[in-house]
Amino acid sequence: MRLTRTAAVAASSEVAGDDGVRQPGGEVHAWLPGQNQTLCGLPLSRTRLRRFPHVPFDYSATDQLTGADPVGRICPRCLAAAGGRGGRRRQSWDRHSPRP
Ligand SMILES: [Zn+2]
Repeated sequence: MRLTRTAAVAASSEVAGDDGVRQPGGEVHAWLPGQNQTLCGLPLSRTRLRRFPHVPFDYSATDQLTGADPVGRICPRCLAAAGGRGGRRRQSWDRHSPRP
């Protein structure tokens, strides 16, 4: 167990991964499980963001999104908020869904 809580993903849409596990799509935000709003302050209920407690918010500002990516936009405010926590920055992002 890590001492700091890991932010999960809340996204505006979802896609089914190869293994049937939901993956976030559309606009993604960081969300701490148990809270009812994103790190940037959007209320989940009013914005209809879907929660992905099984998907850690491991995005970084240097991630390159392609047309094949279901994720269209990463919230910059959530990136800043998540990156500021703990002061540790990930160097790479392990993709959970391999490309076909
Ligand atoms: Zn956000």
